[in-house]
Amino acid sequence: EESPGGPSQKKVVAVVGGGLVGALNACFFAKRGFDVELFETREDIRQAKIVRGRSINLALSHRGRQALKHVGMEEKIVSQGIPMHARMIHSLNGKQSPIPYGKKGQYILSVDRANLNKELLTAAETYPNTKLNFDRKLQDWSAETGLMTFEQVEADLIVGCDGAFSAIRKQFLRRSRFNYSQTYIPHGYMELTMPPINGEFAMKPNYLHIWPRNTFMMIALPNLDKTFTCTLFMPFEEFEKITTGDEVIEFFQKYFPDAIPLIGVDALKRDYFRLPAQAMVSVKCSPYHIGSKCVLMGDAAHAVVPFYGQGMNAGFEDCIVFDEIMEQFNEDFSAVLPEYTRVRVPDDHAIADLAMYNYIEMRAHVNSKWFLFRKHIDNLLHFLMPKTIIPLYTMVIILINKTVINRGLLFSATGALLGGSFLLIKNPPDINKLLVPAEKMWSRLVALRTS
Ligand code: FAD
Repeated sequence: EESPGGPSQKKVVAVVGGGLVGALNACFFAKRGFDVELFETREDIRQAKIVRGRSINLALSHRGRQALKHVGMEEKIVSQGIPMHARMIHSLNGKQSPIPYGKKGQYILSVDRANLNKELLTAAETYPNTKLNFDRKLQDWSAETGLMTFEQVEADLIVGCDGAFSAIRKQFLRRSRFNYSQTYIPHGYMELTMPPINGEFAMKPNYLHIWPRNTFMMIALPNLDKTFTCTLFMPFEEFEKITTGDEVIEFFQKYFPDAIPLIGVDALKRDYFRLPAQAMVSVKCSPYHIGSKCVLMGDAAHAVVPFYGQGMNAGFEDCIVFDEIMEQFNEDFSAVLPEYTRVRVPDDHAIADLAMYNYIEMRAHVNSKWFLFRKHIDNLLHFLMPKTIIPLYTMVIILINKTVINRGLLFSATGALLGGSFLLIKNPPDINKLLVPAEKMWSRLVALRTS
């Protein structure tokens, strides 16, 4: 088959979207020797004064690191990140209690999104067979011919890494037997900065700080400049209730009193109104490919709500999984793409569901006491039965949530056997679209817990 680059040329892979997953993916394809063309709507963020993204910093876990390692970027990114060895739970009275992540020595990293994105673009650019095109917004494309309209560009493979509102995915929606669901949650998020105090971090830096307050929650991740980025999650209607600076302080006094002096009264009053709260969407779809021409990765394939801290990490893992399948099937796109869908859809859907479950659980009743209690039970079970029982608590929650969510739907838990080391749940085949089969989730949970 002739490539748009000519008969003797290596095939052309167009990566649409130069965000985190797109930039990383360009490295993966370049490493394989493809002619890679990356197209990004935004200007080159390495030259931009202000970089907009979905959050200022994010948690990089084992899963994401593995993908970075594949393209020789792990050490560099890790050296620029801040290890978070534990969660730090803030009670209403200001008491702080750490809950470690898994075993001793395990940690996740707080990384700066803009910096990570810049580093990945620079890494992609070092491959002579990669070209980065900025200020190029994809308008339309054809699954039949691979023609894309920016102007007209043609590729052998189009890789949609263009985020939660993917233009590439729009074509999928027009096709038969494409499943798609999109759910906006009632919560929004807002980012606030906690400045350093006397040149030092205002709180202990090597933690992911959490203020669980039932329907509200605030988290804070450290940055290299010794600030923390605090993210406040709460229902939009609650955000909207607060209309004056004094009401902001009143609200914080009630729910996050220990954070007031750390963020600062004036900054709080000002920054709360700087930007409106942002929406969060969960997108699930299947398949992830069309023929041998196009494949979706990252948020374009699976935007998840950020309550599991795994969106980017899962997107990075997409790149690794795809790369492995490329190896297995000798870069034959017509075999690689369906296999990628087959392998990846259930895992990504499980992550989306877990994120949604964490959200539902939080919304239901997670205050600091509950949070601590739950984590201690989890850790105890993990200690007793490290291989199998890790997610028992979570499974119970899932079962409860399932029962609640599916009330009125065709639901029957035909067996729930709790004891020894396993819990078995059987789902009817037409279960609510949001939910994956529990057995699948079970195996994923074991892996996820430490990745
Ligand atoms: P994006 O980062 O959205 O990038 C898409 C790119 O495509 C953008 O650069 C965009 O400009 C470009 N684009 C869009 N349309 C077009 C077009 N038509 N043509 C050309 N280019 C286009 N994940 C974690 O793993 N850990 C965390 O701690 C974490 N925290 C989060 C906190 C919040 C508040 C939110 C909202 C998300 C969080 N995530 C986290 C999820 C993470 O942000 C996403 O999963 C990740 O950004 C996905 O990367 P992506 O490259 O697929 O999409």
